[in-house]
Amino acid sequence: MYDQNNIFAKILRGEIPAKKVYEDEYALAFHDISAKASVHVLVIPKGPYISFSDFVEKADDVTGFYKAVEETIKLLDLKQGFRLISNSGINGGQEVPHFHIHILGGEKLGPMISK
Ligand code: 5GP
Repeated sequence: MYDQNNIFAKILRGEIPAKKVYEDEYALAFHDISAKASVHVLVIPKGPYISFSDFVEKADDVTGFYKAVEETIKLLDLKQGFRLISNSGINGGQEVPHFHIHILGGEKLGPMISK
């Protein structure tokens, strides 16, 4: 069940501040509080979705969210490239149970996976 008190739900409700990068009717993008690269932005849908699978199964407009991810990438000016990550569940290392995409870039990134 979706936890209405997870940190990203609180950010969406404006109860916790975030450094906003982009917002539209589908999504909110903001800087990660603990950046793992010189650019590290999170994009979250404006709905109660726990994970990638939950979002794709339940959202009426999946495309709108992904277009918001692309708008965010354009705003961040990541012409040299970037990496998108979405952690899901225990094995994926997901910490916040509200679906999100990490956008990482601004420098040459290291190996994709470290155990
Ligand atoms: P996950 O491990 O769930 O894929 O990633 C959660 C991300 O949320 C982490 O990179 C973490 O730094 C970030 N995060 C956790 N709490 C906050 C917060 O209060 N504000 C912001 N902006 N990011 C947060």
